[in-house]
Amino acid sequence: MFFNSFEEISDIAMGFSSNLQGQASHEALLGRQDAEIKLLDTMRRCLTNKVKSDRDYASTISSLTTQGRKVERSEDLAGSLIAQSWKDIMDSVEQSAKLIKQQADLMESVVVEHISSLHTERRRARKLYQEEHTWLNNQFQQLTDDVARKKTEYQKSLEVYKLMRSRFEEHYVKSGRGGRKLDEVREKYQKACRKLHLTHNEYVLLLGAVTECEHDLRTSYLPSLLQRQQAVHQEFIVTWKSILQDIVKYSDFTTEKFLEIHTRMEKAVDTIKPIDEYKDFIGKHRTRPASPIRFTFEENLIDDTSGKLLPNKLTVDNLTIDWLRSRLTELETSLKTTQLSKQAMLTPPEPICDSKILSVDYSREREELRQRCQEKKLLRQAEVIRGALNELGCEELPSGCDLSMEGSFTEPAVNNKVPLRGVCNLSNNQKGGGGLIEEEWFHGVLPREEVVRLLVNEGDYLVRETTRNDECQIVLSVCWDGHKHFIVQTTSEGHFRFEGPSFPSIQELIVHQWQSGLPVTSRSGAILRTPILRERWELNNDDVVLIDKIGRGNFGDVYKAQLKSSKIDVAVKTCKVTLPDEQKKKFLQEGRILKQYDHPNIVKLIGICVQKQPIMIVMELVPGGSLLTYLRKNASTITQREQLRMCKDAAAGMCYLESKYCIHRDLAARNCLVGYESIVKISDFGMSREEEEYIVSDGMKQIPIKWTAPEALNFGKYTSLCDVWSYGVLIWEIFSKGGTPYSGMSNSKAREKIDTGYRMPTPEGTPDEIYRLMLRCWEYEPEKRPHFEQIYTVVDTLSQAL
Ligand code: ADP
Repeated sequence: MFFNSFEEISDIAMGFSSNLQGQASHEALLGRQDAEIKLLDTMRRCLTNKVKSDRDYASTISSLTTQGRKVERSEDLAGSLIAQSWKDIMDSVEQSAKLIKQQADLMESVVVEHISSLHTERRRARKLYQEEHTWLNNQFQQLTDDVARKKTEYQKSLEVYKLMRSRFEEHYVKSGRGGRKLDEVREKYQKACRKLHLTHNEYVLLLGAVTECEHDLRTSYLPSLLQRQQAVHQEFIVTWKSILQDIVKYSDFTTEKFLEIHTRMEKAVDTIKPIDEYKDFIGKHRTRPASPIRFTFEENLIDDTSGKLLPNKLTVDNLTIDWLRSRLTELETSLKTTQLSKQAMLTPPEPICDSKILSVDYSREREELRQRCQEKKLLRQAEVIRGALNELGCEELPSGCDLSMEGSFTEPAVNNKVPLRGVCNLSNNQKGGGGLIEEEWFHGVLPREEVVRLLVNEGDYLVRETTRNDECQIVLSVCWDGHKHFIVQTTSEGHFRFEGPSFPSIQELIVHQWQSGLPVTSRSGAILRTPILRERWELNNDDVVLIDKIGRGNFGDVYKAQLKSSKIDVAVKTCKVTLPDEQKKKFLQEGRILKQYDHPNIVKLIGICVQKQPIMIVMELVPGGSLLTYLRKNASTITQREQLRMCKDAAAGMCYLESKYCIHRDLAARNCLVGYESIVKISDFGMSREEEEYIVSDGMKQIPIKWTAPEALNFGKYTSLCDVWSYGVLIWEIFSKGGTPYSGMSNSKAREKIDTGYRMPTPEGTPDEIYRLMLRCWEYEPEKRPHFEQIYTVVDTLSQAL
């Protein structure tokens, strides 16, 4: 409500004038004014703080926008609508910060100023009111005081009158009706009476006047004062209200200007179109579609597997067949399960609603992809295995290991094949196998590795025997587009066949196959052209009679034996039936190498027996046994001449081997044999390699550390010069009469010391030339070592000089 005039106020029944006349009201009004002054003060302080904090806020926001505009790697966001929109938002936020500051400034300059002046006026008005009211009160007091003074005067006049009258009466009675004294007293009496009457009249007049005045003050002046006060108060309220309106105005962050800024921000965001966001980006960074990752077979892996493992081709052999079959079953089962769960997934996916977009759940897609991949993987693997198994047809299951002795394996019978029973020990002339042993193209249990070596030209063939699941099978091996091995099938009538007609004996079947010129199986197309006959090395186990055990080798016992036909004494190394395939391969390695050599200082091979287990290597018998044992046994009697002769023999043998590019790799006294007249022969070719240089890549297990050259130990690099190092140790053994090299040192200690230049001291009684030779053999750099030819010359010259 707003009061425009004094009249309006007087109409108000509840106005100040009629209701606030009393002293208590007056005091309350003063209290009210004090409170209002305090409120104004509070408002001023509060608004000053608001102004300050609004300014601080505006400045914080402003610096935030500066920070917000500094976008890292902004060049990577070129063309981004999001980034542009963000920049616009930052501009707008800064604009609003400016507006906030402007409003704070106005709040200070307008509102706070007004409140300050209102506060001053309010205090002045209160003072005026209080002064006016005090004056009024004084007026009332004045009147009261006047009346009281008059009354006192009245009382005094009355007392004087009474005294004068009583004196007059007293004299009158005493002196009668005359006399001077009486006259005097009368006169005073009359004066006092006049005075009393005058005072009485004045009193009466005063009372009348005061009453008039008091009435006027109370009924006119006081209400008028109060009315004016009310007007003044209300005028203040008008001003105060307008100040509050200004506060509201300058606190309003929803004004047009703010709304404009807000609208700009909205528009900035509206410009974002997801489809356009990456337009520029795509244009700038366009690349060719992703090229597939190629998973190719690393052919280096199979460099050393003699063609048994082919890139990208499953290996179906005795080692893998079981695994392949059970894997196929597993794959088929898994495939069924996968297909079932794939079907279960076929329920349509829930549509993606907006709220889900930001947290797209890939799990379903992933699951589908996983299942699809899984199905494809399973299908592909099953297909490859099936293909490989089908390809095998009636061909013999290849052996997984080189030189494997099929007989020692317990290979599973191949489905669709009836194993040939009772043809083992073919020399026993059992059913089916009878007479087979007579055939020169029958090679007994010759390992497949060896067979493959024999079949060189297309159409070369031979027949051999293998054992599977304790059952013998006869295998036709043919060189045809690689090597093919066919198991002879047995019909229910006990006849033999491949794919074509059956025959009562295997010989007839093979002859038919050869003469007809028809392929053994249509899939292989293999045709028999040239029978490959047994080599002279291939002896029958029964050709050899074992007599005495004379030693024990790594693979089995060594026997003194006799050849049945010629009664010649021989040494026979046997290979334990129970040894793993890999070991058997190593065992035969020695035979394969030795069969090429013919030298008085190299132990001679007579043959190998592979007709049946145990396989054996037949060698010349060197009656003195191992050189190491010989040296130790004859240490006391051995002469220097004999020692030099031994060194010379060994040098001659090694010279021969070097000329054949054979690296022995295990030359030591324990691996030399002593024959008649203490002739030394190099033996034990189990570790030998026929190469100029041989790099070991498969670890250095069972390396004779103390006999091996540093470059072989450190880098696996073997040459004949490594054998030279070993020769140095061998002649040290000869001159120390079977001593232990680097005695008291562990292998690693010896190795470490050699690397730092240590060399064994000369054994007692060694000729200087021999020790010098040893040291030359132990040159750290292989190139500085002498070759065996030079060694031989040195030793030969020396032994002749003795
Ligand atoms: P492996 O090479 O299996 O370790 P070795 O060749 O060392 O076998 O032979 C073991 C032992 O058998 C030799 O120490 C030696 O006593 C004896 N020996 C080996 N070959 C013959 C042989 N040809 N004549 C006589 N004894 C031999």
